[in-house]
Amino acid sequence: MPLLDIAGLHVDFPSHQGVLHAVDDLSLQLEEGEVLGIVGESGSGKSISMMALMGLIPFPGRVRAQHVRFAGHDVLTASEVTRRSIVGSDIAMIFQDPMTSLNPCFTVEFQMTETLRLHKGMTQKQARMRACELLEQVGIADPARRLSAYPHQLSGGMSQRVMIAMAIACQPRLLIADEPTTALDVTVQAQILDLLATLQKEQGMAMVLISHNMGVVSEVAQRVAVMYAGQVVELQDADRLFDAPQHPYTQALLQAMPERSNGQARLHTIAGMVPGMLDRPSGCLFAPRCDRAQAICTKPAPLRRAPQAQVRCHLAVDTSHGHAA
Ligand code: SF4
Repeated sequence: MPLLDIAGLHVDFPSHQGVLHAVDDLSLQLEEGEVLGIVGESGSGKSISMMALMGLIPFPGRVRAQHVRFAGHDVLTASEVTRRSIVGSDIAMIFQDPMTSLNPCFTVEFQMTETLRLHKGMTQKQARMRACELLEQVGIADPARRLSAYPHQLSGGMSQRVMIAMAIACQPRLLIADEPTTALDVTVQAQILDLLATLQKEQGMAMVLISHNMGVVSEVAQRVAVMYAGQVVELQDADRLFDAPQHPYTQALLQAMPERSNGQARLHTIAGMVPGMLDRPSGCLFAPRCDRAQAICTKPAPLRRAPQAQVRCHLAVDTSHGHAA
């Protein structure tokens, strides 16, 4: 049984102008200890899909699915007690901007020990000792002194380390990292990514790494899901996806990587924007931006599946070796 099994997930936001399909029929599985990268531009549904798993979709968002199972429990239909025992303990999430994730009114100690007392039933003294250990584990020097700091007294990198310490406090089986390096200085980004990769290996936890940056995902992910306009358009082993991408959107994203510029002065760009509620095509959603579009692309692109792989394109052809397309 996979640790995470999402089938047919939809997240819709109705408005007086129509319905925004933020996530459209997303299915994926994640094994224990596996690292899955989810990439795509802003508005592609990467964060919303994981927020649905966490039960964090704001009103008037609507979530429906065949199932969203974590360790065999369907978190969408589970009782509130079961869901609470899973989310925040077995599943933890860190967000893009650590400064807005930490509560500015409370010290690091209060925020860390509260989690440990709530989920682990520790006394304040036990929780404080454990908080010190966790800060040390995420590379914060002089942890006892840092416990008394307020968030505004910490740098961006240190705040993100505190958030990571809080996320791993309950030894989650799944860590969701939503653009964990995007808001940080370039010099700190690599350190935080290294830290996440190290902790993931040490603790054997599964991780979903959400990023708009293919380079970041290529560093740590074993499999990668590429999302566009709420749909997974390609899901493959990372090696295969980076070596032989099959979907035109994946190919365009890879061409836009500075590492693949081959010394050209101008980087490749993808003209146009991710469609919104009012300009959503009736056929393949990528068609208005796709340089390989043909007449058939005015029809919705079929999702071709193989074990562990998916491609959503009329022209995807490779059916070899058990891979999608
Ligand atoms: Fe491009 Fe057509 Fe494939 Fe869509 S279905 S990605 S328009 S080739």
